[in-house]
Amino acid sequence: MSYKMSYDEDGRLIISGIECACGSQHNEPTQDIYVGSGIIDKTAAYIKKRNYGAHCVLVADNITWDIAGARLSAHLRSAGYAVSECILRRNGRLEPDETAVGEVFLALQPDTDFLVSVGSGSITDTVRVVAARVNLPQVCVGTAPSMDGYTSSICPLTYRGVKIHRPGKCPEIIVCDTDILKTAPMDMVCAGVGDVLGKYIAKADWKIGRIINDEVYCDVCGEIVTDALERLLNNIDEIKARSEKGIRLLTEALLLSGMTIMIIGHTRAVASVEHNIAHYWEMMQMFAGKPAPGHGASVGVSTLLVWPIFKRFANEDLSALDYEAIRKNAPDRAARTVWMKKAYGPAADAIMEENEGDFLSWEEQKRRITRAEARFSEIRRCIDEMPPVSRLEDAMKRLGAPMTPAELGIDTPLLNLSMRCAKDYRTRYTLFKLISECGLEDKYLKDYPIC
Ligand SMILES: [Zn+2]
Ligand SMILES: [Zn+2]
Repeated sequence: MSYKMSYDEDGRLIISGIECACGSQHNEPTQDIYVGSGIIDKTAAYIKKRNYGAHCVLVADNITWDIAGARLSAHLRSAGYAVSECILRRNGRLEPDETAVGEVFLALQPDTDFLVSVGSGSITDTVRVVAARVNLPQVCVGTAPSMDGYTSSICPLTYRGVKIHRPGKCPEIIVCDTDILKTAPMDMVCAGVGDVLGKYIAKADWKIGRIINDEVYCDVCGEIVTDALERLLNNIDEIKARSEKGIRLLTEALLLSGMTIMIIGHTRAVASVEHNIAHYWEMMQMFAGKPAPGHGASVGVSTLLVWPIFKRFANEDLSALDYEAIRKNAPDRAARTVWMKKAYGPAADAIMEENEGDFLSWEEQKRRITRAEARFSEIRRCIDEMPPVSRLEDAMKRLGAPMTPAELGIDTPLLNLSMRCAKDYRTRYTLFKLISECGLEDKYLKDYPIC
């Protein structure tokens, strides 16, 4: 198993030489992803290489316009491009909703050749969905190392107040100028770090999925993410100082995580139960009309919450399980439906429909438990690979990142529910599913009672 990460003379980040025996098809990313200092002024040259034509719509919000949009627009004009500026002006945070998407749509002209997004998550996603619908290329200029979605092909959007996901396309050109990313506020830097730290959990869960359900685990994708994570954790002071090196390492970790999605075509390497919890908080706060916590900050906090449960499970004795008692307590379809409605409210039906496989027969549940017992030493090894939680806590503390649900505005009832229902958000296998299937949920989650 091996891969090579390198940069060409233009600052293009390249993953090549993938050798992996996992059996999946591995696609080397074809996008042009550039990372470097001062490279925003090379954007025109990067675009020229792809021959997109001369007319573009450049999308920014009032904040990213000041950070990079105005400069980029002037740069593109001086290089001969016709630029229509679409500045999404808001009082507070830009929501990637129907209004934002509509504004971008209406800024398009019949002769528009490509779109340029200048921003981080919300702007990139807003432009991504439009670019995909009108089938035009997107050039993405990042302004903060706050999330791993630059290289994503999914658009998380808000539609009539509800969080939805729409298919999009990965931008063909991504420009991450470290001089600009360095100026991002510290909470956005912390968010990026939080989003990346969750990948340890994703990796352990993926490997547990291989053990229990014969999922294909891709060693190369696992390694790409872990290598980037290690470089990041070893350089927290550089990140805190927002030095060139620190911001580059964080940006790389975010981009490389996203690149694994292109390599194997799914998000197994980047999201698991910690993301389920983060999405759940966001969704439930929105249902309640409360402000949703930021994505990366939520992932960082949820990672700290689930970590001790993983470590504890490494010392479990599954040979002591009472199969008959587990069978008796296993919820039937009706009981599970009641639980899902309690936990997920208006989203319950859609989630159950999408995850039919989560209504387990006893035969299947028993098969999983038996497998876990027989191969427990392998499960333990996946967990032992995770560093001690103190390493993450130390990093987050040094950065001043939020570390508790309370700091994110998550109250105890919501926290307790989230810990209990995170396993039910999607069929993707997690240790939390296994704990529940083994009848051990009350033992492991007794600190999170449901009333
Ligand atoms: Zn994420
Ligand atoms: Zn592989």
